[in-house]
Amino acid sequence: MPPAYDVIIAGLGVMGSSVALHAARRGLRVLGIDRFAPPHTLGSSHGSTRLIREAYYEHPLYVPLVRRSHELWRELEHDAGEVLLTRTGSLMVGHPDSELVRGTIRSGEEHAVPHEVLDAEELHRNFPGFEPPDDFVGVHEPGSSLLQPERVWASQLRLAEAAGAEFITNQAVLSWKSAEGVTNVRTDSGSFEGAQLVLSAGAWNRSLAPDALAMLSVERQLQQWWAPARNAELFRAARMPVSMWQLSDGRIFYTIPDTGQGLKLGWHHNGPTVDPDRVERDASPAENAELTDLLRRFMPAAKGMRQASAVCFYTNTPDGHFLVDPCPGARGVWLMSPCSGHGFKFASVLGECMADLLTGRTPAFDLSPFRHDRFAQ
Ligand SMILES: Cc1cc2nc3c(=O)[nH]c(=O)nc-3n(C[C@H](O)[C@H](O)[C@H](O)COP(=O)(O)OP(=O)(O)OC[C@H]3O[C@@H](n4cnc5c(N)ncnc54)[C@H](O)[C@@H]3O)c2cc1C
Repeated sequence: MPPAYDVIIAGLGVMGSSVALHAARRGLRVLGIDRFAPPHTLGSSHGSTRLIREAYYEHPLYVPLVRRSHELWRELEHDAGEVLLTRTGSLMVGHPDSELVRGTIRSGEEHAVPHEVLDAEELHRNFPGFEPPDDFVGVHEPGSSLLQPERVWASQLRLAEAAGAEFITNQAVLSWKSAEGVTNVRTDSGSFEGAQLVLSAGAWNRSLAPDALAMLSVERQLQQWWAPARNAELFRAARMPVSMWQLSDGRIFYTIPDTGQGLKLGWHHNGPTVDPDRVERDASPAENAELTDLLRRFMPAAKGMRQASAVCFYTNTPDGHFLVDPCPGARGVWLMSPCSGHGFKFASVLGECMADLLTGRTPAFDLSPFRHDRFAQ
């Protein structure tokens, strides 16, 4: 008897639900399993906003992928019949020699991404909510947008089900075994067979493949929303781009304009390594003080009342790049998900690539930088 499913997906976050959508649309029999009821606020895909930008300071290799992602987000928006993307532009701020500024310019130039470099005075004149130090510059990319993660996530799940995918929620995958073309997946209340298995459990992925994923670490990330003290219009999406700032000590923080809940603020990395089942979900007084200080220094008019906080996870590889590859030693089992805190924007294209791999096709993009064996040394 062939297995009941062509593919089982363990974890239906933004990554797993994207795989479910693309695989179901290719005619695969898909079973998705999640330990919670997605969309939820317990993993890595919540918090109202996610940035999508093209001038990619992390590495120019991401630019072709993000361009395809952008096209797929527009298609999802069309199919879902709702707004998922809002164009705000983005601004990468720091010293001209900082990795953030240099990497953004390099990637923008290499791939002809429209952008302009503003000195501190021009930056403040164009975006008066920001008050950068005199020796900082900003790289403005007008084409960047904000994605609405909960809506994206819910749309992928809904459209995947419409395309025939089956989902089981509030049920955790506990273990799996793969032999002779069949993978048996055990949950806390049953077992299921699939020809292939995708492990996309985000911060919990390591528990599903402890040997292969021993190098991953889970980082706690705090997001906060603030009501500006004055000139609130300067902090709305119509007047302010998304920004990332690299300080002289190398740390990076970001701000996201007010889309209804207040100005959003958080560190990019700089969080503690945690166990996702035992994480502290409230902000500490020290964390509050640090974020308040960033507002005071770089956008003082925004420092009004703190409105809300939320904790989320980055699942990091040692080099900060992705991991999308077969699971070593387990035929038909795929590793996905560890996107080191910058993966949301790529969920659409990575879902499409995974559907290619599941159907034996070669993806249109070179995924070799995301291979598992780069960690062998
Ligand atoms: C604060 C914050 C800001 C970010 N900002 C950006 C940004 O601006 N741009 C960008 O591109 N990226 C951003 N990211 C990164 C991006 O959001 C993540 O890379 C992405 O959401 C990860 O999705 P995922 O599906 O891998 O994980 P998740 O969404 O966490 O999904 C994993 C799923 O697996 C399920 N699961 C866990 N264990 C099991 C199990 N045993 N069995 C079954 N199911 C299981 C969980 O319930 C969950 O639903 C940000 C991340 C954070 C935390």
